Amino acid sequence: MADKDYYELLGVQKGATKEEIKKAYKKLAMKYHPDKAPEEKKKEYEEKFKEISEAASVLGDEKKRQQYDQFGSNAFQGGQTSQGFDYSDIMSHFRSGSFGDFDDVFDSLFGGGRRQHSHARRGSDLLYETEITLENVAEGTTKTIPLNKLEHCKDCSGKGAHKFDSCHHCNGSGYMKRTQRTPFGLFQQTSPCPYCHSKGELPQDSCKTCGGEGLVRKQKKIDVTIPAGIDDGMRLRVRGEGEVGTNDGPSGDLYVEVNVTPHKYFVRNGDDIKITVPISFTQATIGDDIDVPTINGNASLKIPAGTESETIFRMKNKGLPSLHHGHGDQMVKVKVTVPKKVSKKQKDLIKQLKEEKPSKSFFKKIFG
Ligand SMILES: [Zn+2]
Ligand SMILES: [Zn+2]
Repeated sequence: MADKDYYELLGVQKGATKEEIKKAYKKLAMKYHPDKAPEEKKKEYEEKFKEISEAASVLGDEKKRQQYDQFGSNAFQGGQTSQGFDYSDIMSHFRSGSFGDFDDVFDSLFGGGRRQHSHARRGSDLLYETEITLENVAEGTTKTIPLNKLEHCKDCSGKGAHKFDSCHHCNGSGYMKRTQRTPFGLFQQTSPCPYCHSKGELPQDSCKTCGGEGLVRKQKKIDVTIPAGIDDGMRLRVRGEGEVGTNDGPSGDLYVEVNVTPHKYFVRNGDDIKITVPISFTQATIGDDIDVPTINGNASLKIPAGTESETIFRMKNKGLPSLHHGHGDQMVKVKVTVPKKVSKKQKDLIKQLKEEKPSKSFFKKIFG
């Protein structure tokens, strides 16, 4: 098979650092992820994704890179499955925006200098929804999240067994070497031992607590800090609190989706809060200082004389704290209420008002 230039595939120089390789791969992997392919180009993207993943898996691993520099890509022929990873695994790791964890994923998939376990698998992410009040948004809060998740079995330290013997298939090395004769000469191929999954040892018994799985389901509670000013529907990530990975794979993450319960009186508008308060006809006419509820308790608002119904007043910094910096305002809409029942005395007073004629200037404004 023709030699593939892994450096060229990733568009990096021969002497590229691991960081550069990682970066180049990330860029390409995002571009060619088959999930993003237009329908007619699915095959093409998939091929390209396989190629760059193969290149990154070799150049990202110190040992394999040396081998490659010496022997070329033929040293890695036989498909990536025999090299210890399945590319569909990579795809699923990178599915829909989980690139945030790119460094972790890259390292766990492509060695990162650690001993590579072919069956290492990152634990699943968990999603938990929680409800908070608007008051919680104003002050920030802590929520206790009950989790029911897979963890390493403590009795066997996640190994699934207590006694191990060296694997006799690979003599405890975890790898199998095979010499292949090709028209270009002899090539030595190293692949993970399928019997011990490249661990180099085989269990001699089975842990009773976890039935040999190495994992047990555990109830656990963790406290998650919810910052003041959080938006409705926002997701917080708690690193490593998802399900545990298998075979030394990293743990998944916990995502906490925060939903804010609508408030009885306050309406949220970004960092601002809107509220409607009733005022009396008298207050609107001659003005008053009124107490207005805010998310942090009552505050005084000056109603100037001659206030029309539906006027909106801004109470500076009485809204919600912003997630970034500063504070929103509270917007107060006043509604002049008309009394349904009046006393005799009130009725007399209102009658007196009725006799007052609108001022001349009022008519002047309208009729010129
Ligand atoms: Zn073995
Ligand atoms: Zn166990």
